[in-house]
Amino acid sequence: MTPEAQEQRRLAALHRLGILDSAAERRFDRLVEIAGRFYKTPIALFSLLDENRQWFKARRGLEVTETPRCMAFCDHTVHQDGILLVEDASRDPRFCANPLVTGAPHIRFYAGVPVREPTGMKVGSLCIIDPQPRQIPLQELDVLRHLADILEDELERTSEEAQSRAAVPITRLNRAIHRAQNTFHAQAYQDAAFDLMLADLLELTGSERGFIGEVLLDRRNRRYLKIGATTETIRRAAGKDATDANGETLEEFDTLIALALASDDMVIRNGTDDTGSPDSPDGQATGVWPQLGIPIFSGSNRVGLVGLTAQRKAYTTEAAHHLDPLLQTVGQLIEHKRLYQEKLDHQRGLEQAANYDALTGLPNRRRLTELFDDELKQAELRNGTLSICFIDLDGFKEINDAHGHSVGDKVLSAVSSRLKNALREHDIVARLGGDEFVAIIRDVEENTVYERILGAIRQPIRLQNQVLTLGGSMGVTVYPQDKAAPDLLLRHADQAMYAAKDAGKNRYQMFDFETNQYRAERVKILENISLALQEGQLELYLQPKITLTARRVDGFEALIRWNHPDEGLLSPISFLPQLERTEYAATVGRFVIAEAVQKLQRWARAGLPYTLSINLSPTHFLGSTFVQDLRQALQDCDVELRSRLVIELLETTALDDAHKIIETLLECRELGVEVSLDDFGTGYSSLDHFRRLPAQEIKIDRSFVADMLDDPEDEMIVKSIIALSRNFNRRVIAEGIENRETQEKLIAMGCNLGQGFFYSRPLQEAHALAWAQQFHDSHPTPVHYQI
Ligand code: C2E
Ligand code: CA
Ligand code: CA
Repeated sequence: MTPEAQEQRRLAALHRLGILDSAAERRFDRLVEIAGRFYKTPIALFSLLDENRQWFKARRGLEVTETPRCMAFCDHTVHQDGILLVEDASRDPRFCANPLVTGAPHIRFYAGVPVREPTGMKVGSLCIIDPQPRQIPLQELDVLRHLADILEDELERTSEEAQSRAAVPITRLNRAIHRAQNTFHAQAYQDAAFDLMLADLLELTGSERGFIGEVLLDRRNRRYLKIGATTETIRRAAGKDATDANGETLEEFDTLIALALASDDMVIRNGTDDTGSPDSPDGQATGVWPQLGIPIFSGSNRVGLVGLTAQRKAYTTEAAHHLDPLLQTVGQLIEHKRLYQEKLDHQRGLEQAANYDALTGLPNRRRLTELFDDELKQAELRNGTLSICFIDLDGFKEINDAHGHSVGDKVLSAVSSRLKNALREHDIVARLGGDEFVAIIRDVEENTVYERILGAIRQPIRLQNQVLTLGGSMGVTVYPQDKAAPDLLLRHADQAMYAAKDAGKNRYQMFDFETNQYRAERVKILENISLALQEGQLELYLQPKITLTARRVDGFEALIRWNHPDEGLLSPISFLPQLERTEYAATVGRFVIAEAVQKLQRWARAGLPYTLSINLSPTHFLGSTFVQDLRQALQDCDVELRSRLVIELLETTALDDAHKIIETLLECRELGVEVSLDDFGTGYSSLDHFRRLPAQEIKIDRSFVADMLDDPEDEMIVKSIIALSRNFNRRVIAEGIENRETQEKLIAMGCNLGQGFFYSRPLQEAHALAWAQQFHDSHPTPVHYQI
């Protein structure tokens, strides 16, 4: 509030008391008398500070009844809060030239306390004066302060009397205040109090329309108005529901609001401007009604604005000031409302922090438990299913390590919003912490939903100056097929997720009974694998790789089998995944490499120039010994022989930590072996990633090859992998050829290498070599040995 406006309000409050120039009253005289006597000062005064003078309502030891304001010590007293103490005015720069100091009554000592009227305005002072300099310690002035308190009580009585005589009946005003306060505190709908106050203000001023608004600051610190209560007509004039007209002005009041927002003072427009000349020759004809804009304060803060208009009524400052007590209530309630809102916001903030993850805004583990319980109940009711998906990101740690936490955070946020987008509104996505997420999905009908979730994670994440890719491993269990308790359901999904990781990551794995037994089985396998190696139970079967156009055997792929003493011949899928992430992955890997090298050496001695592809376990390949293992196995081999060994790396493994993979592959290249990207098409390599990988061969995953005759999409994928390989000068081989049509189609597409049951199943070495011999001698007669 400007000092001028503050002063205006002060004067209005003083005038409202109706005390100026009134007769002396014993109650005030007595207080002044006591003050003088107590402090033994010849002069004591109760002074009221009017616009241009100070007027003494009660005085002791002084003849004059008033002095010009410019001489008033009291003017200083009311502009501060405590006691104004002047020990020797003649030595005080503020007062030494004051006529009351230089002349009679020769003031030297002065002590004055501000006196407030009931609404808190400082209207005057109670003071003691001595023509002698004095020293009174502040604490000894307590009595003066008490006397001022009593004076204020007396003023309150005066004010009540004044109001009962005032234009606005005090009882009516009081009733309005109480009504508003009670309503405000008693009702959940606080705005009702503002509606009431507006109704009362309209009635008390005889206005037709009006509003009460909150004055707020926008981001650029400019004031704007938020309407809290308004009359119907205005609402209609505003053309919208003005109650949520955030900062909107109401047409009819446009000018008034603009003026009132700009100043802290009351604005009156009675159809004439400030100079007194009419706005227009006929104010009524232009439809402009007299208007009153009253700024509302809480303390000295401008918090609101009341606007009123009446058809046949001129507003006056005085009449408006009679409303002050009610207007103060408006200010208080606006302030209360704001505080209340802040408290609510704060509570909401706390609740948010307790239940939601700060980084992604997703529900946290705690909130998930609640939501999950609800979902289970709902599923029961609608007789539906719930898929509980436990997701752990693949490659997140690497991104975090390589690019720092802030990039890691961005990646997590990106993944969260993708997960949310991949699901429907009522499905739940929560973050458990780190790179672990849980999704709870209603009524999944096809597993493509799970693929879609993983697909969403796999999409490259574009940040400011880099593109990152990562994958996800997901375990899924479905309620009520899995009718376990909520925490157990989560644990099952978690277990299945581990199985997905073990199976090579970047995929989903359904939880089932077998998965549940997975751990036990795994222990059994791990216990037996060393023995199997020692006793020679592991064997590499060979499946021929065919040069499609030339119809020759290019070489073989080595596929491991376990001749289990109790369980018969085991396929790799039944024991290899269990070895992942254990030391046995490398043990078996070393066995495979050594076996492969031996075969190549034997074949070379026999004059057979076949190539041999071997499969690598991600754990072994990414581990610290791989290059060393390979180097050692190759130490007696020449360049020619080394180039016949092809290492097959799963495309999904190649997505893991690009930097490290490329480095390792380059070291392999230096050792002279070839590199093939296996199961290509399942990992969604980015083009850039693909280009940077030092591989000579791309192996199209058999799932695309198997379905390409029926599924145009698969056909397109095969076509584009072939084209891509051509462009980047890579050899391309199709696996899983099961019939002639597929073979012919692949040839037509430009693929010149292939393997599959159409030619041969994987065979023991002797049979495979025999098969190759026969294929060359009397081809094309596919031979089918059963494994
Ligand atoms: P893979 O590398 O994709 O191997 C091809 C798989 O497809 C082999 O299964 C093979 O028998 C099968 N296959 C070949 N042609 C056809 C066909 O025309 N139709 C159908 N339906 N299937 C065909 P297998 O031998 O059971 O091996 C499964 C997986 O186990 C391999 O997939 C490979 O990833 C892994 N694996 C095999 N041996 C080794 C090994 O020595 N080390 C490692 N780390 N992994 C191995
Ligand atoms: Ca392979
Ligand atoms: Ca493959």
